Order: sequence, then C-alpha cells, then structure tokens
Amino acid sequence: MKQNLLDFDVRQLTAWFAENGEKPFRAKQVLRWIYKSGESDFDAMSDLAVSLREKLKQIACVEAPKVMREELSDDGTRKWLLDMGTGNAVETVYIPEETRGTLCVSTQAGCALDCAFCSTGKQGFNRNLSTAEIIGQLWWANHQVGKDADGNWQISNVVLMGMGEPLLNFDNTVSALRLMLDDHAYGLSRRRVTVSTSGIVPAMDRLRDECPVALAVSLHAPNDKLRDELVPVNQKYPLNELMAACQRYLEKAPRDFITFEYVLLDGVNDRDQDARELVKLVRDVPCKFNLIPFNPFPQSPYRRSNPETVRRFRDLLMQADIVTTIRKVRGDDIAAACGQLAGQVQDKTKRTMQRLTEVH
Ligand code: SAH
Ligand code: SF4
Repeated sequence: MKQNLLDFDVRQLTAWFAENGEKPFRAKQVLRWIYKSGESDFDAMSDLAVSLREKLKQIACVEAPKVMREELSDDGTRKWLLDMGTGNAVETVYIPEETRGTLCVSTQAGCALDCAFCSTGKQGFNRNLSTAEIIGQLWWANHQVGKDADGNWQISNVVLMGMGEPLLNFDNTVSALRLMLDDHAYGLSRRRVTVSTSGIVPAMDRLRDECPVALAVSLHAPNDKLRDELVPVNQKYPLNELMAACQRYLEKAPRDFITFEYVLLDGVNDRDQDARELVKLVRDVPCKFNLIPFNPFPQSPYRRSNPETVRRFRDLLMQADIVTTIRKVRGDDIAAACGQLAGQVQDKTKRTMQRLTEVH
C-alpha cells in the first residue's frame, strides 16, 4: 500500500525521507507543495527531480478523506460529510466571519464520553481518526474555500470542536496540530488553533508540554454533582483537579486565559445560583466564558434556555468581571451547529438501542 504523506508531521516526514535515502530538505519542499499549494499530484511538484517524482508516485500518495456530501447553510456555513470507511462518517464545518474563517474539525468517529446533551456522544465510539484524516479535513476545506487576495488560505482559524474528544486521540491530534502550526505547512499561530476538551486532566498536561495551543474546556456545570451527570468523565477528573489542570496549562499557553464553554440547558444549569456558583468555581483561573445555546437533536431530553435567561446568565458572570460571550448559532438549518454533528457512525456500543429500550 502507498504511504499517505498526510499521515506525517514534519519530523515524521523527514525521517521517512531519510529511510528512503532522500535529503531532509526534500521533505520540506514536498510539505510546502502539499500544504501551501494544496498540491496532491507529484508530477506538478516542479522543483523536485524527475527521478524523485517518479519514486514518490510509486510509493506515496496525498489523500484526504472522501467527501460524501456537502451542505450549504443560508448563513454561508458549509458542512462536509466525510467517508471514514466501514459505514462511518464524520463532519467538518466551515464558518465564515467578517474578519476570519474558522474550520471546525473532528478527531474521532463518535465519542466514548457520552455527555448527556451531545448527539455525537449518543452514538458511542467507533474509532480514532488518523493524522491524515484530521489534517485532511483542513487540506480539503482549504481547497474548497480557497485563498484571499493576498494569496493566504481563507481559513485562518481551526477549532477541534467537531466530533470526538481530541485528547483521547492524542498522538494523531498532536501530529495534525503540528502541521497546522509548522511554517513549512500551514503556519498558523498557536493562538488561532484551539483544542476543545471535556477535561481529560493528564492529557491537558501533556498537551501543555508537547504542543501548547489555545484551550477551551467544556465545563457545563458549576459543581461535581451536576457535572457528573452532564459530563460523565467528571467522575474520573472532578472539578478541583480540572481547575488545577487549567492553572497549570496557563503556565505555558499561548493565550493567558482558558475559554470555558457552557451549554445552557433550560432549568438544568441556567439558574442564577448556578451562575454564582460558577463564579466561585473559576475564581483562581483566568478565563473567558462562551455560553452556547443548546442545539437540540432527535431524542434529546433538554430544551434551549430562553434568550432572556441566557442574557441574564451572561450579565451575572460579567458583573463578576468575567468576559462572557454568547455563541451565535451558525448553520443549524443544516445541523452543523455545536453538538449536532452526527455523521453516520455505526454505534458499536449499542447505546442508542439501550436508551430506546429504556424509554419504551
Ligand atoms: N469533545 C470535545 C470537543 C467536541 S464537542 C468537548 O467536549 O469539548 C464541542 C463543543 O460542543 C463542546 O463544548 C460541547 O460541549 C458542545 N456541545 C455538544 N453538544 C451540544 C449541543 N447539543 N448543543 C450545543 N453545544 C453542544
Ligand atoms: Fe464527546 Fe465532546 Fe460530545 Fe462529550 S461533548 S460526548 S466529550 S464530543
């Protein structure tokens, strides 16, 4: 089988070139073709010797995941459904804004963590995506969205907030992050690449040491009792450990705050007392809050908080000097909003069936 070059970060590609008797700078040349020009055809890599091009054609390829479907929202959001083989699919979402273009990338087919309000979690876990499948989402989307007048890719920001828990697919995620950051590949600033995690404490420490980027932590509850229920991984890494990990992360982070994501569920975590308890919880962690209106999906037991409650919740945090934004709902007409990404993942854990049986 041919080696997919999207599977290598810079160091790995250089090592692979060496194994094949090629000089390190050749690896850098090839990287620039793949990521700066978006090229997948070795014949077009005109500054490589013809003999090297022939050799690469024999043993290597540049292959992003196959796209099964594209959808376009009224607000310009674009969603691609990518085929991951054996009945699995994941989704990638492009969100254009005035001053930036953001791509929301998936890291796993399904997710094992089963958060109560998340449609990806409801499908159970199928498998980790490879480095090629993660970086391939950006490679493909760049192709589709294209460059601006200055010749830069229009996608200026990447958030790992699609399907899956990035820190439970650590190695492949970090290789893909390195390609996003490396000057020979996409060269994005660390501040423009955000990992979102439900709070896998040991992996947060590893990320800080190995590849610090902006960090978003999905909080969703002000105390362990409620968080155990909404984000079950909290039973393993409770809030006091999570807050300490956030503080450690900030010692080396490219930004001087953590973004806490908080999905507002009507009557569950959106009361005044929840906001007050939150303020106390995050007292020692420099942070911003991003409040996310809940995006419903079939069979979800929750309702979106009303806009008045959302604003009130924001005001209570702001009064405590915490910068708080309310996330705009984008692309919900094509089910591309947070937590609606479903793909067509085979439910290996049969959770959905269990739940249906429990209900009936
Ligand atoms: N697993 C990681 C990243 C993917 S989820 C994490 O949990 O952080 C990305 C974000 O979408 C998380 O903040 C998650 O809590 C939020 N989310 C999940 N389901 C949602 C829903 N139904 N409505 C709104 N946001 C949701
Ligand atoms: Fe997994 Fe994140 Fe969904 Fe929780 S919110 S189930 S961690 S994808």
